[in-house]
Amino acid sequence: MRKTFAFLLLASTAVGVVGFGTADAEACPAGFEEVVVAGGVQCAHPDEVPANGIRPTSFYTTEAEARALTCIGSGTDGNRLQAVFVTEGQATLDSADRAAITQGMINVQAVYRSSSQVVPGVEVIPRWVHTPDCDPSIDVVRVAPGTLADFAATIEAFGDQGRDRPDRKYIIWADSSVYCGIATVSVDESKVANRNDGDHPGYARIDRNCWGYQGSVVAHEVTHTLGAIQPSAPNATPYGHCTDEYDIMCYVDGPDTTTSIDCGDHRGELALDCNNDDYFHPDPSSDNWLYTHWNVADSSFVERLVTSDLGQDADDGQDVDDGQDVEVVSARFVDIDRENPHGRAIGWLAERRVTRGCDTARFCPDQPVTRGQMAAFLHRFVPDPRFGANAVGFADVGPDHPFASDIAWLVESGLTRGCDESSFCPDGPVTRGQMAGFLYRVFAADADVGESGFGDVEGESPFATEIAWVAATGISQGCAADRFCPDEPVTRGQMASFLHRSWERFLDD
Ligand SMILES: [Zn+2]
Repeated sequence: MRKTFAFLLLASTAVGVVGFGTADAEACPAGFEEVVVAGGVQCAHPDEVPANGIRPTSFYTTEAEARALTCIGSGTDGNRLQAVFVTEGQATLDSADRAAITQGMINVQAVYRSSSQVVPGVEVIPRWVHTPDCDPSIDVVRVAPGTLADFAATIEAFGDQGRDRPDRKYIIWADSSVYCGIATVSVDESKVANRNDGDHPGYARIDRNCWGYQGSVVAHEVTHTLGAIQPSAPNATPYGHCTDEYDIMCYVDGPDTTTSIDCGDHRGELALDCNNDDYFHPDPSSDNWLYTHWNVADSSFVERLVTSDLGQDADDGQDVDDGQDVEVVSARFVDIDRENPHGRAIGWLAERRVTRGCDTARFCPDQPVTRGQMAAFLHRFVPDPRFGANAVGFADVGPDHPFASDIAWLVESGLTRGCDESSFCPDGPVTRGQMAGFLYRVFAADADVGESGFGDVEGESPFATEIAWVAATGISQGCAADRFCPDEPVTRGQMASFLHRSWERFLDD
C-alpha cells in the first residue's frame, strides 16, 4: 500500500492577511507548494514515506492502557484536541468507525505516555475533548461532495462551519482515501508565546487507509499540529521531519533527506523523538536544543501527569489515612515525584488551575508561601463575583503587581486587612496560624469548637479558635504529635494540602 504523509506549513506572515482567491508567491519557503484556504495563504509539502515494513507487533504494556482514555478536567476547558469524523455522505458514525476513532485517540495517548517516561514518573498526554463522564467526544461533520478531495477545501469548510477556534486542534478522521495523513504547523521556534500553542486553529487529517498502523499516523499528524519539527532542530529535514530513526516523525521525506539509525529499538516507530533533542522532552537539560526552543512537551494542548502509588493521604508532616487510596496524582510539575506527600493535592490544584507552579515546569513545594501568593491561591480557589478587584490602596501593591487583583479581592471580601495600616507585605511569609485564620474566615463563619489540644497553642494564643477549627475538621492534624507550630511558615506543598482538604470538606458536592 502506498503510504503518504503529507505536511502543510503555515506561512508565517500571511495567515489572516491574504483572503481566499489571492496568492502571495513570497509567502511560502522554497520547496513548498502554495495553497489558499479561508484565513490566508498556507504552504503545502506532500511527501511519500518509504514503507520499510517495520512495525512493532505489540506496543501496549497493559490491556488497560490499550483501552482507556485518561480524562483531564472538565473535558472541554482550555486548549484541546477535538476528534472529528468527516464525511460527504450521511452525517452518522457507525459503531465500527466510532470504535476505530476511539482506539486512535487512545493510541495517541499511549504514544505520548510511553514516550514521556524518559523522565521517570512523568506522563505527558494529549488533552482530547471528552464528555464530563469521560467518554471520547467525536464530532460528526458532513461536508459538500468534493470537499474531501483536498485538505485546503476541508479546512475551508471547517472555517465556514465555525470550526476554527484557536483553542482547538481539529484531528479529522476523513471518510475518504485521498491522503494518508496531512497536517498544519507553524514555523515558530520560540520557547514561549509560540504560534503553535493556541494562536490559531490547527488541523490534521487522516484518511481511512491510514486509520490503523496502531495510531502511528494519527500521532504523527497530531504532533505536527503541536509544532513539530522546527527547521533548526538538530536532526530536522527541510520538510518538518527528522533523520534520526527510529522515531514516529522521521522518514525520507524528500530527495535530500537521508536517515540514520540512532535509536535502534523498532518500538521507536511508535515513539516520539529519538534522543529527545528535536521536538519532545518533558524536562530538557540546559545543553539540549529543546531547552531554548519550542518543545512539544510544553504545549498547552498536552497535560503533564505525575504518577504516584500513594496508598495513604498526607498532611503537613503526618500521614492521615482517610480511607481513600490514591493511584494517580496529576500535576504539571517535574519536581513533584511519586513520594511527595502533597502530590495528590498539588495535582488537584493544578488541574483546577488554582496553581500554575513557581515556573513553567516546577511547583517548588518546599518554598514558603508569600502573602501575595496566598491571595492568588485563595482568589482562584473560591472566586467570589461579588467583589470587584481593582483598587487596592496599599503603598506596597501597585496596579502592576502580579497579585494586585487577588489582593484587592482578599481585602474587599473582608478576609484580611493587610500587615499594617498602609501595607500588605505581599512578599512576607504566611504562618501556619495565619493560614488557619484565612481558612476559618472563608469556610467556618463563627464556629467555635473549643480548644485544639495542641501543646503549643494556648487558649489566649492568636488564632487559637481558628487552629482548633482546622484540627476539628481534619484540614490539618498539626506539625507533630501534639503541636501545630503556628509561627512556622506554610510551605507551598502544605498550602496545597490545606486547600484540597478544605475543598473536600466544604465545596465538593
Ligand atoms: Zn509528517
